[in-house]
Amino acid sequence: MSSFALTIGGKAVTTTRQFDVLNPFDESIAGRCPEATLEHLERAVRSAREALPGWSSTPDAERAAKLMDIGQLIERHQAELSRLITLEQGKPQSGPGANFEVAGAAAWTRATASLNLPEETIQNDDVARIVIRRKPVGVVGSVTPWNWPLLIATWHVMPALRVGCTVVIKPSPFTPLSTLRLVELMNTVLPPGVINVVTGGAEIGASLTDYPGVDKLVFTGSIATGKRVMESASHSLKRVTLELGGNDAGIVLPGTNIAPLLEKLFWGCFINAGQTCAALKRLYVHDSQYAEVVQQFAAYVEEIPVGNGLDPKTLIGPISNRMQLEKAMALVEEARSRGARIVTGGKKPEGRGFVYPLTVIADATDEMRVVKEEQFAPVIPIVRYRTIEEAIRRANSLEVGLGGSVWGDDPEAAASYAGQLECGTAWVNQHGVINPMTPFGGVKCSGIGVEFGVDGLKEYTTVQALNVAR
Ligand code: NAD
Repeated sequence: MSSFALTIGGKAVTTTRQFDVLNPFDESIAGRCPEATLEHLERAVRSAREALPGWSSTPDAERAAKLMDIGQLIERHQAELSRLITLEQGKPQSGPGANFEVAGAAAWTRATASLNLPEETIQNDDVARIVIRRKPVGVVGSVTPWNWPLLIATWHVMPALRVGCTVVIKPSPFTPLSTLRLVELMNTVLPPGVINVVTGGAEIGASLTDYPGVDKLVFTGSIATGKRVMESASHSLKRVTLELGGNDAGIVLPGTNIAPLLEKLFWGCFINAGQTCAALKRLYVHDSQYAEVVQQFAAYVEEIPVGNGLDPKTLIGPISNRMQLEKAMALVEEARSRGARIVTGGKKPEGRGFVYPLTVIADATDEMRVVKEEQFAPVIPIVRYRTIEEAIRRANSLEVGLGGSVWGDDPEAAASYAGQLECGTAWVNQHGVINPMTPFGGVKCSGIGVEFGVDGLKEYTTVQALNVAR
């Protein structure tokens, strides 16, 4: 088994205490993770502060070139990183799984390297020259979740580094290993202290978000924790970007030819075993074709191999941890007890590990927890509706608004309905598809701020207006 260390100030740091990271397929030990103390956190923030003047004044083109090198480095370590992700998180090597995650991390890193934030001239005449400059916000504290550990780490870290910030990242204790290795690799390219990593759970996360030497927080995780992060941030008025939970609705318009859409609908719901913030989590289908859509969708779902992510035939891995498995089982049982029909799945196989079958729930209603709450599991409730206006109202009725989708034979007609959804991204005939140039973020309780593209880059900067009298 490989050994893992923290990286602080460019150096590998071992710790007195470690904790086990479990392989969700069979609960074997995927690796031992060093456990950071408050003292490690202090050292990490100090290193990031010390590295800030040098990194923020490094020529822009040089920073971009370093990021390009990191993209290449991630690519060169594709096999190693992707195996680590399967072992600690469960997603398969095949399909849109661990290899897809590593390739995405490399692609996002390069795309971020290619972005620019040039000075903007507001006025330039005989009265004044006014320009707007973007300056790095300072030291960034990043806290990441367990669902896409490497990809989300790159989403946090690369834009921060691109504009000249330095970073302390804390990954989820369920999936810290790929991040520890990523930061170790990045330190072969970057000056010491530019990126540092500490590990642990809620306690060290809370200390990082409260730490006075940190200027900005970027957090991806649950709404409940996001609120705590924002409260901590208020103590020293740190800037925040919060990417929180969602409960995305998908609406199939009446009369839609569903067969050609099944594959995209499947991945929209079940990518990463449903453990994706912007996965489709409630499917609204018109009364007139409800039975047909349920039957065709369930038949498609039943053909997909679920199991050990290291088996190349597997397309969906286990649920990532026991806590999430237990939540999924409780939601399915509540729906069953209230009269929902479990068309396929719904029962965990005997034995160790967190594999749960792909589950399609028919006759689900908005009152059931599996519809009201984010399942974050391979479970999709299908809900009946009678008018499109009613479906949109019900889709918009929750406190969250990350994504949403409308499915239909006429994409422009579907787009006009999609525009009425209260969410950060509205898709047509697809769900969850993202790219590094398009801003991504939530409305309502799904978050504050955006990631990706120039708008995402700006989140790591402060604005300075330079106003020169003539
Ligand atoms: P979580 O909120 O439990 O944990 C996220 C991270 O916060 C972990 O690193 C955890 O150790 C840390 N943490 C816990 N308590 C903390 C505290 N008090 N202060 C600071 N840090 C603390 O979330 P999770 O279970 O890891 O992730 C699942 C959730 O994340 C889902 O709700 C999902 O929708 C959401 N998510 C959102 C996006 C998005 O982009 N919007 C992406 C992925 C996941």
